[in-house]
Amino acid sequence: LTRPILKIVNAVESIGKGHFDVELEIKTGDELELLGYEIKKMSYELKDMYKNMEELVDERTKELQLAHQEMEEMATKDSLTGLYNRHYFNQYIQNIDKNIGVGHRNLMILIIDVDKFKSINDNYGHNIGDVVLKDVANILKKSVRDSDITVRYGGDEFLVALYDSRKELAEKYIERVKEGLDQWNRESSILNHELTLSIGYDEYSGDKHILDAINNADKMMYDNKMDKRNREQE
Ligand code: GH3
Ligand code: MG
Repeated sequence: LTRPILKIVNAVESIGKGHFDVELEIKTGDELELLGYEIKKMSYELKDMYKNMEELVDERTKELQLAHQEMEEMATKDSLTGLYNRHYFNQYIQNIDKNIGVGHRNLMILIIDVDKFKSINDNYGHNIGDVVLKDVANILKKSVRDSDITVRYGGDEFLVALYDSRKELAEKYIERVKEGLDQWNRESSILNHELTLSIGYDEYSGDKHILDAINNADKMMYDNKMDKRNREQE
């Protein structure tokens, strides 16, 4: 009570350090009391401003995080199908040893291509073509485990990397895809002909480059397509 100026000095110092809840009781009944009252009021106002600023910073940080996440999605995912894009897969194979672990190199690479997709675009329009691509992507995606990778590799071409190099697993995967496609053909009425896919695969293990496995899978897919075409012409 006796040293009001010292009290004011201490309070101002505290406020300056960000401690806004200061005790400042001055009952001198003169201008000092008024000053003490004004300083206390200022500390409440500063506290409010500080809180609002913190909220604003939180809000902006969340917005930035979301934008960053969206940018990352855009850089790695194909916007039409939501599958990984080729850019992501190229990065992935550059770090393949790190990604799957040296000594555990075994993946089954599958290449899947829609048959006569161009004629779907030509006959039904590009929008229907897009729907078909999205539906095919969903069939491929729902037939893999979470650890496997499904990529939109090109226009109507997809790549799937299964984390296991056993041929039986690839065959089982192809079975599941065929079942999904059969169901789609029964239930979807957007095409008036049967949609078919051509599939090829090869294993990637320590003894070859992953691009060789992709090429082999692509060749097998192409042979499969040509066989179908030849059978149709017979
Ligand atoms: P094949 O039976 O030999 O596989 O022939 P195809 O007609 O399926 O294949 P082709 O490579 O001749 O045509 C693929 C077409 O896919 C050409 C391109 O215009 C179309 N395409 C590529 N990207 C998209 C897309 O995002 N949406 C749609 N609707 N069409 C696309
Ligand atoms: Mg095609």
